[in-house]
Amino acid sequence: MAKLKSVYSFEEANSKNRMLLGGKGVGLSEMTRLKLSVPPGFTITTQVCNQYYENGRKLPKNVIPEVMRNITKIEKKTGKKWNSANNPLLVSVRSGAAISMPGMMDTILNLGLNDQTVLGLAKKTNNPRFTWDSYRRFIQLFGKVVFGVSDEKFDRVLDAAKKKQSVTNDSQLDVDSLKRVVTEYKKICENHTRRKFPSNPNEQLQLAVEAVFKSWMGERAIIYREKNNITRDIADGTAVNVVTMVFGNMGNNSATGVVFTRNGHNGKKEIEGEYLLNAQGEDVVAGVRTGNDISQLKTDMPKSYKELTNACHKLEKHFREVQDIEFTIEQGKFYLLQTRTAKMSAGALVKTSVEMVKENLINKDRALTRIPAQQLEALLHKTIDQNKVKGFERFAKGIAASPGAASGVAVFNVKRAIMMGENNKKVILLRRETKPEDVPAFFSSEGILTSQGGKSSHAAIVSRGMGKPCIVGCSDLKIDYDNNKCVANGITVLEGEPITINGSTGEVYIGNLPTVEPQVTKDFQTILSWAQSKKKLGVRANADTPDAAKLARKFGAQGIGLCRTERMFNATDRIGLFIDMIMAANVKQRKEILKKLGQLQKSDFIQILKAMEGYKVTIRLLDPPLHEFLPNPEDLMDKIYKNKNSEDLTETKKVLERAKELSEINPMMGHRGVRIGITYPEIYRMQITAVFEATVDLVKKNVNAKPQIMIPQVGSIAELNHIEDIYREVKSEIQKKYKMKINVNFGTMLEVVRACLTANEIAKTAEFFSFGTNDLTQAVFSFSREDVEGKFLPEYIEKELLETSPFQSIDVNGVGNLMKIGIKQGRAIKKDLEIGICGEHGGDPNSIKFCHSAGISYVSASPHRIPIAIIAAAQATINQKSKKI
Ligand code: PEP
Ligand code: MG
Repeated sequence: MAKLKSVYSFEEANSKNRMLLGGKGVGLSEMTRLKLSVPPGFTITTQVCNQYYENGRKLPKNVIPEVMRNITKIEKKTGKKWNSANNPLLVSVRSGAAISMPGMMDTILNLGLNDQTVLGLAKKTNNPRFTWDSYRRFIQLFGKVVFGVSDEKFDRVLDAAKKKQSVTNDSQLDVDSLKRVVTEYKKICENHTRRKFPSNPNEQLQLAVEAVFKSWMGERAIIYREKNNITRDIADGTAVNVVTMVFGNMGNNSATGVVFTRNGHNGKKEIEGEYLLNAQGEDVVAGVRTGNDISQLKTDMPKSYKELTNACHKLEKHFREVQDIEFTIEQGKFYLLQTRTAKMSAGALVKTSVEMVKENLINKDRALTRIPAQQLEALLHKTIDQNKVKGFERFAKGIAASPGAASGVAVFNVKRAIMMGENNKKVILLRRETKPEDVPAFFSSEGILTSQGGKSSHAAIVSRGMGKPCIVGCSDLKIDYDNNKCVANGITVLEGEPITINGSTGEVYIGNLPTVEPQVTKDFQTILSWAQSKKKLGVRANADTPDAAKLARKFGAQGIGLCRTERMFNATDRIGLFIDMIMAANVKQRKEILKKLGQLQKSDFIQILKAMEGYKVTIRLLDPPLHEFLPNPEDLMDKIYKNKNSEDLTETKKVLERAKELSEINPMMGHRGVRIGITYPEIYRMQITAVFEATVDLVKKNVNAKPQIMIPQVGSIAELNHIEDIYREVKSEIQKKYKMKINVNFGTMLEVVRACLTANEIAKTAEFFSFGTNDLTQAVFSFSREDVEGKFLPEYIEKELLETSPFQSIDVNGVGNLMKIGIKQGRAIKKDLEIGICGEHGGDPNSIKFCHSAGISYVSASPHRIPIAIIAAAQATINQKSKKI
């Protein structure tokens, strides 16, 4: 590989190389090339970051000299001087990986300040207050990032200074107070490190660059990458951007802000964002002060507002994507500090995709691929049931920051939120503001509510990216961390009490407010229709009830790939009958009960087939072992023991006997699926008859019903043929009885390893295959599907033995290869054999990508994931096409 430079100035960078320069570096160099106003600077590459780690956390020798040569270049461009007591050059040192990881790595501002340059800056700006304020900010940030000093230590000093001067805001501190704060801050760092605070800017810069590289392997960044599946082929190390400092806190003709070129919340074509007068960038991002709406800048600083809107327009057109822009206005001069693809809510992504196609900014393929399919889940979130709202008390209202409704118990502490979430408790995290280190608690919470901050605050951005409901800037809310409670409008909520948040409106309610199913918007329908016509894979639903079938159809499912009939037996009005069937003393008695169950199944099938009229409905015969329907033996024994003197326990004892008889050491590999059909043929006969009877009923009413019968757990052609005999008998009986031809396909699941390996035999009888990837994964790994995710799997992922759970995303090299064998063998016998997949993987975008490339006919997913599957299937087609070119 050609030796790459370690450092690129913004003018010379090849801005296509995102992996090398990181997203921020690319944005800065692109903006520079577009002749937009960007403070001069340079990027140290991600390759250097990797070399730093390969060298045992040491920078390669050539890096600092190259950095210093680039500092000289900046000096020439700006006329400022490094370490000067007259006109000092100060820089920011910013992280930036190929993929944006907002707030997950470190940044240092105002670097270059020391006791000399601070005087120079004061002279130059004629604003000593601003200068000393910058200096104290620099020491705090440097101390925190480079030396690991905690914020609280600095905050204590600042609070004491405010108290001493009898003021409440930082901005009211005068120069003398700030000077004392600076001295104290330095002492804090010196006590922590037992060395003098570095005053030489060269040393400061080297330490800062190293600290940014270190933050790539910081806990926050690692967790973020893990949770967001950011692997090394997506982002390999962070770059470091060194940028000339410009100041938004140089008085009331200065400002700083963040904007999206379109509304990131609802996708409307309007600049959305906020700014603060006389402030530094982190004040906006951290949500410490709630910013002004960007529209107000038009009045406050009309010239800068015009420059901002021009830049937004130019950047959107150039990148053909909605941008998230950071800007600073220094004494009336406008600067762009960053541009990147905006992280928007799923709704905004959908709307902007449709609108940008209309504006000829992007084509339909791009419109589909720019939406992370997984994120659409947020659009499919439940919303608050407006009919029920009346009965609930509205407690407070904040800024709607990430859509969707969520209920849970209020928790004010990050660690407790993580713990409770991991114990499956539904939690709403309530904080004054959030920081990057709080992100693990976001994952375990249903929703986030903060009392401070605006739409660009950390809490808002992270929640939106995760698709979690979030409300920010809920200023009614007074949070009392010490007493684990909050108060708003005279109402107190204690930790552990239920609340509901509506991230779409900003409203907070007391109690668990009922929610309703989501509505598919017109834009979403447009996107889905584009995806439907693009995708090659079929998308069907895993649905066991008429309601689920209707919902799936509304979301775009074209058929049912898996109807688990046992779920119907679990309904409260049937379970008793089903237990009676299991308890039957003999076949005759069992058949009597099965007759009644057959009637119930028939009516279920009629409704489901009707809801999916015109599309195939795959009905799977009974799969779980029979003992799953009986109470467990321990409970029965307990009951017998506790009631030994008071009740007639004959019946309970009988059930216990039967439960013991049916119990197995390893039920997942036991008497289930086709094995039940073989040993209790009357059960499968009843189910097959019910399917045929339901079809007859519908055909008579001219309903286009398309049922197919699917046999689970088949491992050999002999098993399948055995059941096919029953199927044939029933078919001919029914056809004779009703004097009509009834077409019901007969097929099998491929979920036993042997079935995949002998698929050429099985295809002789089966009219279709459907991979049961849940059981197949279990068998291929010898991992119990019921246990591993709660046991050792998280550790496997943490230790990088597995990238993700194979129960969520298909293990392409293992399970995937086995599937390929099954597909090849099956299609060698029947060229056009329909082969689907109905395990949980059917709704996972990565697995869908694999299914597309492996030649699967359709995926089947739960109703809520249907739109995700449709988009992911379209993306698989588009991405494969673009790879071929
Ligand atoms: C499977 O095993 O993938 C499957 C769909 O069946 P179940 O989850 O019901 O065992
Ligand atoms: Mg299965």
